[in-house]
Amino acid sequence: MKIYNSLTRRKEEFVPLEAGKVKMYACGITVSGEAHIGHAFQALVYDVFRKFFEKQGYKVLYARNYTDVDDKIIAKSRETGIPADVYAARMIEKIDGEMRRARVDEPTLWLKATEHIGDIIAFIEGLIEKGHAYPGGNGDVYFSVDSFPAYGQLSGRDKEDMLDGVRVENDECKRSPYDFALWKAAKEGEISWDSPWGKGRPGWHIECSAMNRAAFGDCIDIHGGGRDLIFPHHENEIAQTEALTGKPFARYWTHNGLIKVNGQKMSKSLGNVVLLSDVLDRFSDEALKFALLSSNYRGDLNVTDDLFPNAEAHLVRFYTIIERAESAFPCEQGGEEEIDSRFDEAMSDDFNTALALSDLFGYFKEASRLLAAGDPRARRIVNQIRKTYSLLGLFRYDAKEYLSRHAREEEAPEAVRALAEERWAARKNRDWARSDALREEIARMGYAVKDSKDGYTLTKM
Ligand SMILES: [Zn+2]
Repeated sequence: MKIYNSLTRRKEEFVPLEAGKVKMYACGITVSGEAHIGHAFQALVYDVFRKFFEKQGYKVLYARNYTDVDDKIIAKSRETGIPADVYAARMIEKIDGEMRRARVDEPTLWLKATEHIGDIIAFIEGLIEKGHAYPGGNGDVYFSVDSFPAYGQLSGRDKEDMLDGVRVENDECKRSPYDFALWKAAKEGEISWDSPWGKGRPGWHIECSAMNRAAFGDCIDIHGGGRDLIFPHHENEIAQTEALTGKPFARYWTHNGLIKVNGQKMSKSLGNVVLLSDVLDRFSDEALKFALLSSNYRGDLNVTDDLFPNAEAHLVRFYTIIERAESAFPCEQGGEEEIDSRFDEAMSDDFNTALALSDLFGYFKEASRLLAAGDPRARRIVNQIRKTYSLLGLFRYDAKEYLSRHAREEEAPEAVRALAEERWAARKNRDWARSDALREEIARMGYAVKDSKDGYTLTKM
């Protein structure tokens, strides 16, 4: 199977460090606020990676971390009067609850910064011994970027670009402005731990290097996170770990895209953050997954107003066919292996969930046609879809139950919906003539189709 490696900027054949095993680490959430759609996207992407590796027969050790101490958490603690550790613990519980509601599975291993302070201190001591880090005289410890000549290999940035987007602080204590904090001295009243450099807490970047090493040893197969982590976070992780061990840290660096909301960057300052809980209040977890996985994981995901409603509408149509096939042929077992092998082929090409999901339109169209002809193969297609696509967290509900919860009352009649689905499939195949002919047929039945990037809506004319 092939994976896009951000380090080499190309797709590469996956070769594990150790035969039959995958060691995978994904940078998790800084628990200063609630889980938003970006967190869910990242958690889902790496859950899918893990499950597909498992399907290929690998034993996967998959670790995610929670950053449960940092400036933002300390600021929240001040704001709310709740101690930082209590605030972080409550937030973790809340986020875990949302992820369970989204039915995104947990990693094999959860790592929390505050549970690895000893590992972090030992890691920093090792870097100081090797001349890659130094105490700043102010209680902070800094990594010496000049001591690691390969710095910049992941982001491809040269030194002039490196000060962009990086907070420059305590410059008088650093040997070079590029140096970054491994340990931060505690200010009055802040949460802190004892260290050889006085009371303080770890910097963000060192957490991941130290916890990774504690969990996996010196090298891992896959390191992941959002693309916004490439610089400085992942660049710094590489510098820290490789400076200490002298070995390549991760063989494959993978990055998921970022979330946009109606074309704009999603950010607190723009006030357009889409909370996971709000999406789950309105849509099923499967609609969420269908929406998040229907484009390539490396691309940015644009959350338009139509994205989730359309995903839900597709699922309702799919479940309608599932329900019909399961009631028409209750005893028919077995599946269609072709569906599974096409799925594996798509996923083996850098986890192409977009292609795997677009195949569904054709399968359901075929199932629908077979149903009309009274052919039990319709049920076998449905059986296979349930089995194969459960890897993406889809089609895991009882069809009747799903439809009773999510189908909208004012739906267009079945005949119109079937034509609309057929038209959508034609558009996916770029068969514009067929698509136009179907639009006219739908119009003759009294319905207008409105397209958007992610789907369509039917309205009565
Ligand atoms: Zn990290």
